[in-house]
Amino acid sequence: MTGTPRADLETVPESGGRTYSLLGADRRLYRSAAPGRFGGHRKSRIYGRLDCPAALRAIVGGGYAAHRVFFADEQTAVAAGYRPCAVCLPGAYAAWKAR
Ligand SMILES: [Zn+2]
Repeated sequence: MTGTPRADLETVPESGGRTYSLLGADRRLYRSAAPGRFGGHRKSRIYGRLDCPAALRAIVGGGYAAHRVFFADEQTAVAAGYRPCAVCLPGAYAAWKAR
């Protein structure tokens, strides 16, 4: 790996054309032509923005990227049992805590 870490790691299939591995509401990965708009951590079950400073710090620190997943939207992340990140989604986090 070279260059700066990217939160939106994409995969390139042999058929050409880019697809992305996203996590669905049923917590199964599926291929999508569009990149995920939110990132998540499979162990901590937290989702957040792709440019979340807390997540990027964790990625640089190592050990985070292996558990990184992506979601098409917040609804899917919540349905999969993930909670909003308090750092980059304070509004959603407050709403989640209050429910
Ligand atoms: Zn965050």
